[in-house]
This record gives sequence, structure tokens and C-alpha cells, in this order.
Amino acid sequence: MHRPPFAVSLARHAALASALLAAALGGCRGEDEGAPEAPVAKPRPRHVVWIVLDTLRADALGCYGNARATSPVLDALAARGVLVEDAFAHAPWTRPSAASMLCSLHPPEHGIRSEDPRDVLPEAVLTLAEHLRAHAFRTAAISENPHVQQATGFAQGFELFLGKPLWQSEPAWMLEQARAVLGAVRESKEPLFLYVHALDPHDPYQPSEEDRRAILGSQRSSDGDVDAGRALRRTERLLAGEALSSEDLQVLRGLYEAEVRGADRFVGELLSLVREHGLIDDALVLVTSDHGEEFLEHGMLRHGDQLHDESLRVPLLFAGPGLAPRRARAALARHVDLAPTVLELLDLPQPEGWRGRSLAPALRGDAQKPAALYAETRWRELGRAAIRDARWKLVEDERTGTRSLFDLESDASETRDTSAAHVQRIDELARDLDLLRRAFRAVGQGEPKGLSDYDRATWEALQKLGYTGAPEPPSKQR
Ligand SMILES: [Zn+2]
Repeated sequence: MHRPPFAVSLARHAALASALLAAALGGCRGEDEGAPEAPVAKPRPRHVVWIVLDTLRADALGCYGNARATSPVLDALAARGVLVEDAFAHAPWTRPSAASMLCSLHPPEHGIRSEDPRDVLPEAVLTLAEHLRAHAFRTAAISENPHVQQATGFAQGFELFLGKPLWQSEPAWMLEQARAVLGAVRESKEPLFLYVHALDPHDPYQPSEEDRRAILGSQRSSDGDVDAGRALRRTERLLAGEALSSEDLQVLRGLYEAEVRGADRFVGELLSLVREHGLIDDALVLVTSDHGEEFLEHGMLRHGDQLHDESLRVPLLFAGPGLAPRRARAALARHVDLAPTVLELLDLPQPEGWRGRSLAPALRGDAQKPAALYAETRWRELGRAAIRDARWKLVEDERTGTRSLFDLESDASETRDTSAAHVQRIDELARDLDLLRRAFRAVGQGEPKGLSDYDRATWEALQKLGYTGAPEPPSKQR
């Protein structure tokens, strides 16, 4: 590599910081945006700014139908870009979910499944950051979620990994890091992949007074406003069956949405920085979440335990050069599809072995080949797996063997188990789930190279059903 390490660029930048920042903030925007390029027929992004707002269920945002003013920034982003209606995570908690996003593999494949500290992203997986770095991108990550850190293997491919694993959101800290990264790239004029993982609106819900007022007005819970947020710290008590009054539940939801409003403002500030550094016009901006959040829809709070849509459905927004405003349906967009989509939008080759498919056809408004979703949770002592397509969802409790079937077309909130009425359908889905389980192979754990004929037939069957991509097991080859 002829490029200086990112850290060196940053150090040099730090020395020049005040002068550069004064210039950047002082109205000199645009003077340093790179040489004018010849017009091209197909506008294409040069940079990628990938923002994850932790624990953000899709319906918390105005652009996904929330009537409260939670998300003016994201609504505006959705209006200038593409909003994907039907996007889902593969797990209802951070570590496996973020891994699936960044290396286009399912949890049993990348190996992060439980809270065991040994469940880290193995060196053998090929992450999007590694792939982009191999294609001359500068790569930087800023994360304040303790699950997404150097210690859990997430730094691979990032020249610079700025982590703050404290379970405490600090937008000012993230913006300061982003400013340093953007300053360094502004100097070098190289393409940038910036991954920002913000902790809010993760619990405890402690919004600013302004955000609380904007969402809840003067409404308070029976034990005072802040205590309703703290109720989530007493989750065990609630899980033990102690009822939360519907008024208090409403306040709890309001406090969460007030935090969403704060997270939305953070996105606005981050994108302003990207703009101030002259990168926004060439940037693909992607916003999503690692999972949703429960508010007693199925008897629980928070996330991690269940595989219903309130835990798995996430917002997915893309904006940038070449993307005309639209609302898109992908007949299931999945987290494994995100990295392949980014590569197609950048016009870069897809690596071997990633499981997702590019959503570019749906983003353009073309027909997208339908896909099916595999999701699981091994949170705490749990073992649950689910598969779903646009209409049906099968959830299996692996400890008890209990299966539930939901017809999402007539019962979007998954309130009626219809397995007794659809025996054939549940058999088919259970067979698919078994096939998937047999086909998944952990990467980098000494598995034999190549596939037996039986394995290959299994993979091909699954590919036809829309569960997965290429039949070859993934490997880090480049
Ligand atoms: Zn999370």
C-alpha cells in the first residue's frame, strides 16, 4: 500500500485540526471537494456512510407511519432517497445481528450466536470493510455498543476502529470522532467507508427534556417520568408477570420514541458534518438498525428473547447518487443483503460466499427476486429459530420443539398461531428450517473444504427456496 495508515492521516490531521476545521466550518464548503469530474451517464456514490441506530423498530419513525414527530431528519432522508418497507434482522440483539450485516452471513455461519465471550467474529470471515479496503477505500468505524468492538472481532477491515464500550450514549463523542475521520479523508480525497453504530434509542430510555416534551407533552407515568424509563432495568420483575398499566406502558413507549427523536437529531448532525467536509454529494448514506424493541406485544419488554416482527423489523433507508426517491418493497430485505447492495451501488465486484443478494433492483423500482429470512436467538438460555417469507412465519422453540405458524397477510401482529389449520404449510416450513440447519456451516472452525454432493444438493434446494445465496461455503479469498 502506498497510502499512509489512517492513524497517521488522523495524527497529521489532528495537528492541522483547528485550521482545517475553521475552514470547514467557516463557509469554505466546496472549495476542497476534489477536482471536477467528467460527467458520467450513471451517477455512482464514491463514499459510504453506514449508520446503525441501535434498537430502532421501523414503526418508531414518521416515514414508517408513526404519527408523532420522532424523525424529521430521517423522514427527509427517506424523501430524498429510497425507503425499503420490508427489512428484517437475523437476530433480535446486537452482536449476531451486526455481524450478519457486515459480513453477509447468517448467525450459525459467522458463529456469533450467544453471549458467550468466545462468540466473536472469526478472522476467517470476509467483512465488507475488508472487501472495501481491498478496493482502495479508507475504512473507519465508530461504535458505542459494547457488542460491536475490537474485542468481539468487529475491527477487522477497519483501519481505524473507535470504540467506546460503556453502554452509554454520547453523541458528542461520536461526532468528535466522525469529525476527525472526515477531516483526514477530506485531506486525502480517497473514498471512505464510515460505519457509525450509535447506542440510542437503546434502553434505559432517558431522553432530553426537550425530546420528552415533544413526544409526551406533560404526560407522566404513575411513578414519575424517569422511573418509567428505569422500569426496563426492573425487567425481571415485569417478566415475572407484574402488570404494567396501559398508561405506564404508553409513557414507556413515549420515552422510547423521545429517544428516537434524539437519535434522529444525531443523524442530522452527523450528516451535516459529512456535508461540511464536502463528501455528502458523493456519499451513499445507509441507515438501519440492528433489531427492534418490544412493548408487551408478546408479553415482554426490551429485545433479545423473541422473533416476532417488533423485534426483527428494522428501518432501511438508502440515499445518494443514482437513487431516485421511492418507497421500495424487496419481498423481504434482509441484513445479509445490505453489504451486497452497497457493493452493487458502488459498482464493485461481489466476493465469493456472501449469502445475501443485492437489493439494487428494488431500489431502482424493478422487480426483485423474493427471498426468505432465517432468524434465531440464543440469548441467555434461549434457543429459538424462525423462518419467514412475505406471508408465513414459522417460529420454533428448540428446547421444547414447539412450533408456531403465523399468517402475516391476515395477522400482521402475529397474535394467532395457525399451525393447526395449516398442517401442510407448517410441515413444509419445518422441512426448510431443518434443511437450513444442516446446511449452515460455521466459517473458520476447521470445517472440511468444499461440499459433499449431499451438502451441495441441500444448498441448491435452499437457494431455490430463496433462503441463501451461493452454494459454496464462504471463505476469505481475495
Ligand atoms: Zn442492539
